[in-house]
Amino acid sequence: MTRTPIAKRAENAARCNMPSYAEAVANFSWENARKQLDGLPGGGLNIAYEAIDRHVAHGRGGVRALRWLSADGRVVDYTYDDLRRQTNRFANVLRKIGVAKGERVYSLLGRAPELHIAALGALKAGAAFCPMFSAFGPEPIRSRMEIGEARLLVTNAALYRKKVEAWRAELPSLRHVILIDGADDPANGVHDYRRLMAEVSEEGEIAATGPQDFALLHFTSGTTGKPKGVVHVHEAVVAHHITGFYALDLRPGDIFWCTADPGWVTGMSYGVIAPLTNGATLLVDEAEFDADRWRRTLQDQKVNVWYTAPTAIRVLMRAGAEAWKGCDLSALRLLASVGEPLNPEAVEWSVEAFGKPFHDNWWQTETGGIMIANFPSMEVRPGSMGKPLPGIEAAIVERSGDSVRVVDKPMAMGELALRPGWPSMMRAYLHEDARYRKCFVGGWYLTGDLAMRDSDGYFWFVGRADDLIKSAGHLVGPFEVESALMEHPAVAEAAVIGVPDPLGGEIIKAYVVTKTGLAHDEALQRELLGHGRKRLGAAIAPKTIVFRENLPKTRSGKMMRRLLKARELGLPEGDLSTLESDER
Ligand code: AMP
Repeated sequence: MTRTPIAKRAENAARCNMPSYAEAVANFSWENARKQLDGLPGGGLNIAYEAIDRHVAHGRGGVRALRWLSADGRVVDYTYDDLRRQTNRFANVLRKIGVAKGERVYSLLGRAPELHIAALGALKAGAAFCPMFSAFGPEPIRSRMEIGEARLLVTNAALYRKKVEAWRAELPSLRHVILIDGADDPANGVHDYRRLMAEVSEEGEIAATGPQDFALLHFTSGTTGKPKGVVHVHEAVVAHHITGFYALDLRPGDIFWCTADPGWVTGMSYGVIAPLTNGATLLVDEAEFDADRWRRTLQDQKVNVWYTAPTAIRVLMRAGAEAWKGCDLSALRLLASVGEPLNPEAVEWSVEAFGKPFHDNWWQTETGGIMIANFPSMEVRPGSMGKPLPGIEAAIVERSGDSVRVVDKPMAMGELALRPGWPSMMRAYLHEDARYRKCFVGGWYLTGDLAMRDSDGYFWFVGRADDLIKSAGHLVGPFEVESALMEHPAVAEAAVIGVPDPLGGEIIKAYVVTKTGLAHDEALQRELLGHGRKRLGAAIAPKTIVFRENLPKTRSGKMMRRLLKARELGLPEGDLSTLESDER
């Protein structure tokens, strides 16, 4: 916190979309932000229209909208007009198949353009779209599709066979599966994407959706119970657009690279929607993380704005700043980071390696868009998340029962709270009204994060107020992992926590009580680790398992994960009263 702020030169600041934070805040209204978009020609609002067709209507159909780099070295480009026609086709496919307005279309795909086409095509058809992380195992996929009553799934043959086919018959809502690389199997409701797309017209009407119509479903984790289905509406596009404009400084013609997986909210809000509404070119790289490939991509594709995450930055840092010597990154204007705390060292390292700092920003699935950011025109304070976006009121609060008290004292710790009312705020947790209502107290939305604000209005992340784990940027609910472990016949009880890890932020550790009489040996440990990976997928499975004779619980029988964590961190027992967790 005592580190030297990184000042922005005045002449560079003047060239940003937001040259002055104070002026932008003073002049901002959501009504004016909405006017930067067109709305549907016949009235209403549709995310896909604003992302694609609006540009074509304004004569920008020939501009490149998406460049896909395949893992094996192919480069495939789509103009805005190409995307318009492809998404029209996908919308027509959904109409032909009989997907009704508001019904849920899911995807289970890696970084492939078919995902962008399916997402925006589904929105054009008036369906709600739900992307899933393709590295999930069968269990998290199934629970998310059950909760959202998936009507249709777009995936590929390998993922379908491995993760869905075995239990598909037990999900009656799921009428259709479309395989982007597979053959028709009509008896099982499986369709060939290429055939379907070829059979329909590339023209078509966009569904007359309104601002409050259900558009996107994203799943996030809770500390207890099943994953939460976060509902967003078409009006969210106003926030996607304006936050992309201010916090990511997106401009027409920019080459924008968001490295987040499209199965998570960042990959959708900023990997698909915001760059397109701002007229940029999206770079989509199919390959998995590889430091050399990333260096080449940033240079050869002349990336202007790069939006990535701390885990990747920390891995890049391992090779030192020298690894970037000789790389021509003269096109790179802005580096931004999100999803986990960005260490001050990483900000300082990026100045050394790139001559520019990473700009950290903060948001969560529920907020739908960036809420707090180090804006490109502002001094960057390494370790701080920055200041609230124009139109966003943020505060540090202290809860007591049904009310909250705003904590004004600089650098006092409390819960980060936001005043509801921005367009991309979640509208519901699907089918879980009580859980949704619990997030709002005394006129504030409580984020579940602990933070501080300094006397200049910069926010500083402290940690989670609950037991959620952030591992390599993925938000993991301990309950989901514990439930999967408990399915194993050897397990009587399990408790899961995140333990600090220099690269991934946190790694997932499980404490297991076995059924009586079972040996606590390495073979069982290995088997349980394998079981976790198979059920949950490598990204959210425990990396370490230790055996215990019993686990600490409250008098009412709730697992005290915080106590396990405090012991793991070597915190004195006296601190434990402040670690009582809240469940949401
Ligand atoms: P998700 O809903 O999966 O996007 O996760 C949201 C959570 O990630 C937030 O509530 C924070 O705990 C964490 N997070 C997101 N951005 C940041 C950031 N810039 N610094 C620290 N934590 C962050």
